[in-house]
Amino acid sequence: MGNRNTKRPAVFLDRDGTVIFDKNYLSKPEQVKLYSCAAESINKLRKAGFKIIVVTNQSGIARGMFTIKDLDKVNKKFVSLLKESGAKIDGLYYCPHADKDKCSCRKPLAGMVFRAAKEHNIDIAKSYTVGDSIRDYLLGFNAGTQGGVMTLTGHGKKQQKEIASQKVKPLAVLKNLKQAANFIVKNAKKN
Ligand SMILES: [Zn+2]
Repeated sequence: MGNRNTKRPAVFLDRDGTVIFDKNYLSKPEQVKLYSCAAESINKLRKAGFKIIVVTNQSGIARGMFTIKDLDKVNKKFVSLLKESGAKIDGLYYCPHADKDKCSCRKPLAGMVFRAAKEHNIDIAKSYTVGDSIRDYLLGFNAGTQGGVMTLTGHGKKQQKEIASQKVKPLAVLKNLKQAANFIVKNAKKN
C-alpha cells in the first residue's frame, strides 16, 4: 500500500445533484436520497486508488435557512446511506458561506480542496472534481487538479448551456456519476 507519506490522488465530489438528488436547500435527513449509481461509482474510484472527498457549498446556512446542526444531521444520514450501500468516503467538507461573505472556500474557490489535501495527504495535480454545476469543474481548474467532469444530473442540464460562455471547459460532460467515474479511471490510466 506504499508508505504513509505517499500522496494519493482524490476525486472531489459535489454532494447535491451529484451523489444525492438535488432538493433546493436540502435541510432534513429524510430528504437525502442517493442516486442508484452512487455507491458503485465511489467504489470504482476507490478501487482505482482515489480517495473520495465530498465538497459541498451550503449557503443555506449563511442565508439562515438551516443551521450547522441541521447540516450535520443531513451529512450523517448521507454517510450512513452510503455505508448501507457498501461505500465509504474519506472526508466531507462544506462551505457555510454566501457570496457576500467573500470566503475562500465557496466553490469555485479552492479552499476546501486545499484543506482536504493537507488533512488527507492528497496529490492535487493527479486529482479530479465531479459535479453537476459549472462551479464544480471550475473548482477542479482553480485548485490545479487534472480538471473537472460535469454531470447532467441535478442542475447539470440547465447549466450545460452556460459552458459555452466560460473560458474554462470541463474535461467531459457526462450523464451521471457512474459515467464520470468510468471516465476518470480511464483518463488516469493514460496519464
Ligand atoms: Zn466559505
